[in-house]
Amino acid sequence: MSSNLCVLMANKILVAGAGGFIGGHLIAELLRKGHKDIRAVDIKPVGEWYQHFPQIENLQLDLQLKDSCDRAAKGTEQIYNLAADMGGMGFIELNRGLCMLSVLINTHLLMAARDAGAKRFFYSSSACVYNASRQTDPNMTALREEDAYPAMPEDGYGWEKLFSERMCRHFMEDFGLTTRVARFHNVYGPQGTYDGGREKAPAAICRKVISAKLAKKHEIEIWGTGEQTRSFMYIDDCVTGIEKIFHSENVTFPINLGSAEKVTINQLVDMVESIAGIKLKRNYKLDAPKGVNGRNSDNTLIKKSLGWEPDTSLRAGMEKTYAWIHDEMTKRK
Ligand code: NAD
Repeated sequence: MSSNLCVLMANKILVAGAGGFIGGHLIAELLRKGHKDIRAVDIKPVGEWYQHFPQIENLQLDLQLKDSCDRAAKGTEQIYNLAADMGGMGFIELNRGLCMLSVLINTHLLMAARDAGAKRFFYSSSACVYNASRQTDPNMTALREEDAYPAMPEDGYGWEKLFSERMCRHFMEDFGLTTRVARFHNVYGPQGTYDGGREKAPAAICRKVISAKLAKKHEIEIWGTGEQTRSFMYIDDCVTGIEKIFHSENVTFPINLGSAEKVTINQLVDMVESIAGIKLKRNYKLDAPKGVNGRNSDNTLIKKSLGWEPDTSLRAGMEKTYAWIHDEMTKRK
């Protein structure tokens, strides 16, 4: 092992939002890489975390509170902030105030990181920061980082993300805390939310197709016309990207972390039907929250900066996701 790696391994790491989808997968990856000194924090009781690793320190804390952030950041050198009150379009369009309150988490955690003398801080931003006027057409050009300005992000959730990105930038400029910011584009995979109202399109579509198959009721409800376009990033690519961005010396600006494989929601449903081996009658719910008409990730900057981009095919990722949700639903049944 190189001496640099030994130094890195000695650092105490905080993962905020550890009970969530991405936080759980990130901790699994850090453990695989040999890190042992990890503090995992989430507001949910530990028993409700998607993944739970008893060999590390697990704390239930409300990180909207400054005292909790101080407790969480104490003695840590590297901080990943994946904590936010969020969900899919259905949640963020109907809970704008709750989404904006996540600003307390990032603000207090940045202050606590600075006061604790932490060396590096990661913030999970979102493609929801992009100007809505660039996303009105399903055949839009993929979003480049500069398309966030002039600012007209997703109301509530997107404004919070854009503001928090700027907080990270100013903590780096004013207080010397090294911050890294990734704009995630729709992340999916096993061990995440697939029902309850916070799930996102890939998991929701898997659940609906599996329910239809199990109930032998061959119909599916789709939000919007199904012609809206998106790209979806498999969780393994997301975790790899977080690590590359977090430890990079040159990515000092918010950067896209997403797949560039654009599909319509109808094509995503075709894919899940083909994985399940069924065909369903489609009922389109036109008044349901559906988000922008078109969104995709332009990966020019990440390829230039890191020589890498997320490359798991949607089909390969959806097969794994479908299999996991299928197992969970049949176990539950
Ligand atoms: P998630 O909801 O599964 O995880 C977020 C976790 O934060 C949850 O476990 C939640 O309990 C926790 N949390 C919420 N409020 C808290 C508080 N006050 N104190 C402590 N913990 C709190 O979401 P995720 O998909 O894992 O997303 C992680 C991050 O990535 C979030 O910042 C999210 O906005 C961002 N993001 C995710 C996606 C995606 O497609 N999943 C896309 C763009 C951005």
